[in-house]
Amino acid sequence: MAPTTQEIKISRNGSNNNAAALHGNGKAGVTKCNPSLLPNRLTIRGVVGELLTRANQEKKLIPLAVGDASSYACFTTGKKALTEAVAAVVSSAKQDCYAPSFGLSIARRAVAEHLSTGALISLQERDVFMTSGANQALQVSMTVLAARGGCNVLLPRPGFPLYESACDLLRIEPRYYDLQPVRSWEVDLDQVRALVDCNTVGLVVINPNNPCGAVYSANHLHQIAETAGSLNIPIIADEVYAHMAFGGSKFFPMISFAHLAPILNVGSLSKRWMVPGWRLGWVAICDPRGSLAQVRNAIEMLMNVSSGPASVIQAAVPKILSNAHEEFHENVLRTLESSADTLYERINQIKALKCQSRPQGSMFMMVEVDTSCLLGIRNDMEFAEELMKEESVLVLPGTVIGLKNWVRLFFGAPGSLLAEACDRIKSFCDRRYSTKN
Ligand SMILES: *Cc1c(COP(=O)(O)O)cnc(C)c1O
Repeated sequence: MAPTTQEIKISRNGSNNNAAALHGNGKAGVTKCNPSLLPNRLTIRGVVGELLTRANQEKKLIPLAVGDASSYACFTTGKKALTEAVAAVVSSAKQDCYAPSFGLSIARRAVAEHLSTGALISLQERDVFMTSGANQALQVSMTVLAARGGCNVLLPRPGFPLYESACDLLRIEPRYYDLQPVRSWEVDLDQVRALVDCNTVGLVVINPNNPCGAVYSANHLHQIAETAGSLNIPIIADEVYAHMAFGGSKFFPMISFAHLAPILNVGSLSKRWMVPGWRLGWVAICDPRGSLAQVRNAIEMLMNVSSGPASVIQAAVPKILSNAHEEFHENVLRTLESSADTLYERINQIKALKCQSRPQGSMFMMVEVDTSCLLGIRNDMEFAEELMKEESVLVLPGTVIGLKNWVRLFFGAPGSLLAEACDRIKSFCDRRYSTKN
């Protein structure tokens, strides 16, 4: 458990410390902190940490709650070239210096070219800012868009909690639009229109989607951009899973629709290249109509006072983003598709569980839990807890990402492990199943 504010007490030598009494705001000896950081919010790491303490010690843990596939051997085919690219930079000792605030020129140019490939518009070096993972990229985007007190940002539900945390810290009101399970998790655009007011400063769209596994068609992306454009709001296009699409679906970059609404593209190497620990991401501005001129300046200001990713990783970016790693990417996609299919088919054979649509991309899918027919389980939190206690299978309760009585499952794992997870989930549900609940 995280400590509560009461527990975070400063211990000083001598109990009669006048300085502590004078400077303490409120109770002597208790230093108050930013209220956005009080431990009163569900976070993925917090909930997962708590669930992990419940595991059945007799059974080996199968973690399907968080998205890190980097440890599985089935994804390493062809990956050596990536690590060699970084190793070469490190041993040259030529990049031990500070990188420029906006990122190394060669890295920015490589990302601009990479994002422009297959898009209907091209980005330049000056449009790209290198960040410490997509996480910093989204923090930067939200920070610069928080133009005034009382502003709001539209977030998808179910969603990705880092956006909500950023809203908290920046005092932005999050407003949620629904992703529709019966319509392949497409954005409810009527709801988007209804939620927008004159204080709305951005629309976050995650495609391919975490947590739903959806990959939006060009037509749907066009509709989204058209809607944002008509409402005069920029789109934060989180494309961390760009090109991670399979099963006949194809990834289309949101920047292809930048003539309709300005785009801040958020991306990183973390997911597609399976190197989340390298902390290499970017935010890119695509703004053919020039409406983000102030936003561009603000990003430059912000990047000047923060620091981006390690220069040794940045210097390897041109090699990492080159076309030389087809074998690696093809293997990743093939493995993900087969793992997603296994999980989808097997989950839908389990009474009380239902996955509406076959995942087409990313590394996640959402599964609906019919708690009314599971004995002793009232909601998704209890489902996750009891499943951990009995079967040591870790799933993420949907409540953490805005959808009660659903769970999020990660399929970036070997098919055999997912099959084993499904066997255990099935025996758990069979034991709990009751029609007269
Ligand atoms: C993982 C993830 C991120 C953060 O990516 P990092 O590069 O690890 O910071 C952002 N958005 C979504 C939707 C993600 O799944």
